[in-house]
Amino acid sequence: MTVETSASASPAAASSGGVSDGQLARATAARSTVVPPAGDPSAFPALQAEVRRLAAEHDAVILAHSYERPEIQDVADYVGDSLMLSRVAAAARQSTIVFCGVAFMAETAKILSPAKRVLLPDLAAGCSLADSITVDQLRAWKAQHPGAVVVSYVNTSAAVKAESDYCCTSGNARGVIEAIPADREILFLPDMFLGMWLQRVTGRKMHIWLGECHVHAGIRPADVAEWHRAEPDAELLIHPECGCTSQVIDAASAAGEQVQILSTEGMVSYAEKSAAPAFLVATEIGILHRLGLKAPGKRFVPVNREAVCQYMKLTTLEKLRDSLALGQFEIEVAEDIADRARLALERMIAIS
Ligand code: SF4
Repeated sequence: MTVETSASASPAAASSGGVSDGQLARATAARSTVVPPAGDPSAFPALQAEVRRLAAEHDAVILAHSYERPEIQDVADYVGDSLMLSRVAAAARQSTIVFCGVAFMAETAKILSPAKRVLLPDLAAGCSLADSITVDQLRAWKAQHPGAVVVSYVNTSAAVKAESDYCCTSGNARGVIEAIPADREILFLPDMFLGMWLQRVTGRKMHIWLGECHVHAGIRPADVAEWHRAEPDAELLIHPECGCTSQVIDAASAAGEQVQILSTEGMVSYAEKSAAPAFLVATEIGILHRLGLKAPGKRFVPVNREAVCQYMKLTTLEKLRDSLALGQFEIEVAEDIADRARLALERMIAIS
């Protein structure tokens, strides 16, 4: 079995605002074969043109996470990970932000840009990791560790962020932990694999919440080992949320091999610069489309092709069009929660 994606063009949509018809056509031609399209692909160009028209008409910027469907990434103004999109949302000049991602991301955009209208095309787009801790559970945990610094991964509800001192993403988590004075106790939540990796690279002992993302936790060491045997010359790119991270680092160290532990944005920039012709990719497979576009001519092989986030795949072009046309579904965050959550987010942005 070989599942690959490659591309011959790189869309401006991945890094700058505004998408031309030519860029859309090139990006569509480069579409990954891994994520099946939602609907008839021959209808995509007309739908994408309608989406762009509506975005201009409603003064909207379209943000898409790298795990979204290829046809959604292709029509977005910006594609990236949570940190990159948080920054874009905060600086956006448009009055409306349409977030093609999951609910906590749209909440984060609303917290950072309270005067803007923030739309999420499908309210069912949740996150198993964000659901793994409630605000009541966090309050109880804090009560057991008075004075501890609370660091929350950005995959959390607004209410949990409001109870946190810092937020972080996989792209800046290490910097956030290293910025906390060495004598302070740390509660890290909710992803245990990211927490364990952070302990390893920073040398800091932390209390770690035992939450996980079902998609990343499903990527096992056996998946990596199988592909590593089949593709011994490919570089291995692993997201720190993966269930395989610690075991793979141990196995690679024992064999004297290199493993790159990278955020989604880190994977993209690493693949662009690396001289390697092939990469094994251990994260949600939506990233393969972006990798193929940003590093044309290289091969990207998912170590587990079942690593699909069904929440990220809920957004379709039809739902995005309806979101723009009908102003649905508007995300609101209570002011007192937003004010406290913003502090944790702004501390994160200041460090990264
Ligand atoms: S991939 Fe995992 S962490 Fe990301 S949105 Fe889906 S469930 Fe949440």
